[in-house]
Amino acid sequence: MNGYQHLFIPGPTNVPEPVRQAMNIPMEDMRAPDFGDFVSGILEDLKRVYRLRNGRVFVFSSSGTGAWEAAISNTLNTGDRVLMSRFGQFSLLWADMARRLGLDVTLCDTDWGKGVPVDDYAAQLRDDRDHRIKAVFCTHNETATGVTSDIAAIRRALDDAQHPALLFVDGVSSIGSIEFEMEEWGVDLAVAGSQKGFMLPAGLGFLGVSDKALAAHEHATMARCYFSFADMIALNDTGYFPYTPATQLLRGLRTSLDMLLGAGMETVWARHNRLARGVRAAVAAWQGCRLVAEDPQWYSDTVSAIYTPQGVDARDVISTAYYKYQTSLGSGLNILAGRAFRIGHLGSLNPVMLCAAISAAEMALRDSGAVIEPGAGVAAAQECYRLTTPDGIEQP
Ligand code: PLP
Repeated sequence: MNGYQHLFIPGPTNVPEPVRQAMNIPMEDMRAPDFGDFVSGILEDLKRVYRLRNGRVFVFSSSGTGAWEAAISNTLNTGDRVLMSRFGQFSLLWADMARRLGLDVTLCDTDWGKGVPVDDYAAQLRDDRDHRIKAVFCTHNETATGVTSDIAAIRRALDDAQHPALLFVDGVSSIGSIEFEMEEWGVDLAVAGSQKGFMLPAGLGFLGVSDKALAAHEHATMARCYFSFADMIALNDTGYFPYTPATQLLRGLRTSLDMLLGAGMETVWARHNRLARGVRAAVAAWQGCRLVAEDPQWYSDTVSAIYTPQGVDARDVISTAYYKYQTSLGSGLNILAGRAFRIGHLGSLNPVMLCAAISAAEMALRDSGAVIEPGAGVAAAQECYRLTTPDGIEQP
């Protein structure tokens, strides 16, 4: 009667109808003779999304956090020195996990609003002549701040220092949405989750692993069990799992991979860029609002975190949007609570859906005390979308 609740958080994202239908099937036999071929096809196609020629991608029945833990516990040893940077809630949580798992974490923190500090990492790597640093961690897309970091530049820093450390990347809110080149960027471990660009419910943690990381696994002694690469490989090689897989999610994943690869990853990335540009145009038109991302080099094409004007509590904006306009916006996390809200623009979305998000945010901002010209943000986004093709190409 009241239409549906609009979802514009940066994950879980909207599940496209074909994916929902693909999951709406009776329970099936995960040891059936033909199940292995079905899974093997998925594992191969995940490598295409990751842009990985060698190595492999694991699918864990967990959220992305499980894949974080799998990456660490399978390739490192307790007490290993690792380089990390905190600049948002998710990079902060990964560093916390690394400490709790017994790693010796060297932090190169930077402001919330900036990305991985490449120069600081480069200096640390150059100074580490006896190669005590075993791994370098980067959050590719910090979902809390709407900041994307330059992973290729981190690879260059490692290569320039001729440093053998493994490169760990959190791609939970980037892989499947914005450019990610695992092989070309020399990423050794790349984490993703089903509920973002893959347009599925939460419940699958993906982990791309390079041959170098698989070799490190042979000698890594940190305790692991459920997430053991060795256990997974033993059964994945024939398309099965060491425990009961989430068969319905895998059926949905098959359809989402068909959609992503059918469109082509470059097209998917361009679509996200176009969607993001419309949101950024709206933010620029909202007086007193600004992106948390400090500079265009950091702008994320999957999520925008937006500071509310002075005196406007972002929590009011979010709850007004939710209760009055049936629209879920992302909240400000940790130090951004009350100061910022987020619009997720990843997954199954189009310009008209985002105009709705911008409209709801604009009304809720005004309700919460922001002095914004009615329609200013929507008009700016409309013009941005109107003047670009679906592939994001500017039209005269
Ligand atoms: N890393 C990033 C960048 C995220 O955005 C999230 C979740 O939003 C996570 C990690 C944690 O993933 P999950 O909630 O699937 O465990």
